[in-house]
Amino acid sequence: MKFAGVIVDISHKDVDKSYTYIIPEEMCSDIEIGTPVTVPFGRRRISGFVTEITDTTDVSPEKLKPIEAVNAKEASIEHQLMQLAVWMKDTYGCTMNQALKTVLPVKKKVKARTKAEDVLPFGKEPPKILNGEQLAAVNGILQEFGRPDRRPAVLFGVTGSGKTEVYMELMRRTLDAGRQAILLIPEISLTYQNLSRFTKVFGEQVGIVHSKLSAGEKYECFEQARKGEISVMIGPRSALFAPFSDLGLIIVDEEHDGAYLSDSVPRYSAVDAAVKRGELAGAGVVLGSATPSVRTFHTAMDRKYAVFLLKHRAAAGSSLPHVDIIDMREELKDGNKGMFSRKLEAGIRQRLAEKEQIMLFLNRRGYSGSISCRSCGKVIKCPHCDVSLTSHRGNILKCHYCGFTMNMPDRCPSCGSPYIAGFGAGTQKIESLVKKKFPEARVLRMDMDTTARKNAHEKLLRAFGEGKADILIGTQMIVKGHDFPNVTLMGILAADLSLNVSSYTAAERTFQLLTQAAGRAGRAGSAGEVMIQTYSPDHYAVTAAAAQDYLSFYKQELVYRKLLSYPPAGAMMNVVAMDEQEDAAEAGIKAFYEFSVSFLAGKGTVIGPVDTGVSKIKDIYRKQFIIKHPDRKILLELRDRIQLLPGCLRQIDIT
Ligand code: ADP
Ligand code: ZN
Ligand code: ZN
Repeated sequence: MKFAGVIVDISHKDVDKSYTYIIPEEMCSDIEIGTPVTVPFGRRRISGFVTEITDTTDVSPEKLKPIEAVNAKEASIEHQLMQLAVWMKDTYGCTMNQALKTVLPVKKKVKARTKAEDVLPFGKEPPKILNGEQLAAVNGILQEFGRPDRRPAVLFGVTGSGKTEVYMELMRRTLDAGRQAILLIPEISLTYQNLSRFTKVFGEQVGIVHSKLSAGEKYECFEQARKGEISVMIGPRSALFAPFSDLGLIIVDEEHDGAYLSDSVPRYSAVDAAVKRGELAGAGVVLGSATPSVRTFHTAMDRKYAVFLLKHRAAAGSSLPHVDIIDMREELKDGNKGMFSRKLEAGIRQRLAEKEQIMLFLNRRGYSGSISCRSCGKVIKCPHCDVSLTSHRGNILKCHYCGFTMNMPDRCPSCGSPYIAGFGAGTQKIESLVKKKFPEARVLRMDMDTTARKNAHEKLLRAFGEGKADILIGTQMIVKGHDFPNVTLMGILAADLSLNVSSYTAAERTFQLLTQAAGRAGRAGSAGEVMIQTYSPDHYAVTAAAAQDYLSFYKQELVYRKLLSYPPAGAMMNVVAMDEQEDAAEAGIKAFYEFSVSFLAGKGTVIGPVDTGVSKIKDIYRKQFIIKHPDRKILLELRDRIQLLPGCLRQIDIT
């Protein structure tokens, strides 16, 4: 006999609560996970969804009732989201409950509303008149979406090419056809400036979700979508699951952004999930970027996605900026030990004199601002996380993983030497350097510290946009999609730090960051200039970004991926074993490793096991190994087999 777990209220706050029913013999072939069914419930008959199928049950079978009927797989929104959850479970190897919790809105009462700091402007503005390129893209995309074998569209447009106007036109056409649209944007780009562009055009039809909403507020927003009170949902990852009944369009802006990869289980890619939801809903999917991810572009080259280009900047008179690469090794040779090359310093002075604005981007990815000992060479680490602590003003050392803080010690904790110091510089250091060098300049700094408080991010950007400062110094936060027409110089400090990250995507990330940063300068009319300071002036990620030449980067990067069988040239699986006891983690990873080696029978490459880059997070030991294999299906099967092995906690990702 077979049994089914059925959830009867999919917006229930606890989807773990499923009820067990007997699957009648004759229904066995019709029922799978996700199937809508009718079941007896108390004295009523109600509909629900199958979330689990088992051969055994804890409940004695006499007490169980059979499923009454398999409901027509009508394209209800619940059924669609259910199918998405099934896909998520199969693709990312999570449980059905984990997938359901991700996909379904959680019913929660709305508590007292958090007062919105800013009221977004509503009303009809006349829309911008699209230029030729934009119009061609809109028409091409609509044509593609009209085909029976419609493919997702990649909107590949240089920075400032006016992708947003293309999105808005596609949305307008979708709404005119009586359907609804979802726009995903990285959380950090959910700024007043960006959002107001949409509310001005679509007014009260727009719903916005973001991480600062309470669960209740988010649920309410999703309910508005379900009831048809709004037709456009804008937000980060989770906005993708808005329960629109006739979804016609999904747009993923900045599709290359790392924020689209969920960092908790299920560790799904919102880009892939968007493509899947588009398929289930019969909706067109647009993936927009100035620097499409290598994976996305590779898929497009396989003709599975259609590509549409915007090659020119849209605003009248604006062109791509002039980019200079500055070799910092030469500066050192000439006796300049400072953070600023002579050229950048002169550039800043000139812009200040001309009352134009400057942005200084410190590429901190891969850089930790760590403190190390000049005598023994050891770095001061977090006792819980095994990552280096970062120094902050006030002689404080902080762990960026768990928040642990300690005072800066006088002596090295390992050898007692008094010669301990930080390497390189953080944004605070740069700020004080800038203030010393250019005392007349008004300076703003944007990083994790200055944006910790609510709305701080927004206020800083607005102040800079309104010309209340001459120089904005910041980390990656400042390079994402903000439009500052008066910025004519972008200085990129330490361009190559992110090349040193131990990941096969280091060059891709560096290229994206540099290209996006370079794209911030000279956006409206005035000529922009970009200076990239680097110790690797010949690296293709640096040279291609300077030339704003995506294709040349892509070609060279693909050679490297192919040479080393990294995705997308092959599939890769990452297996992590986790335990509070180091021995248990060690034993676990060994068991998984040995199982994998015998399962693969000589095919593929297994690397490791090793401690993960961060071997201990929040007092949990983490050991990992990596498998590279040409066939993704084999890895999917292996993953499911490893999940069934006994032993410690594990996390398995396939890319
Ligand atoms: P992207 O998202 O591609 O970087 P945006 O959509 O932010 O570019 O557009 C860049 C700038 O060009 C914005 O200031 C926008 O108002 C302007 N713009 C976009 N389309 C047009 C157009 N058709 N005519 C005039 N200006 C435009
Ligand atoms: Zn020491
Ligand atoms: Zn820590």
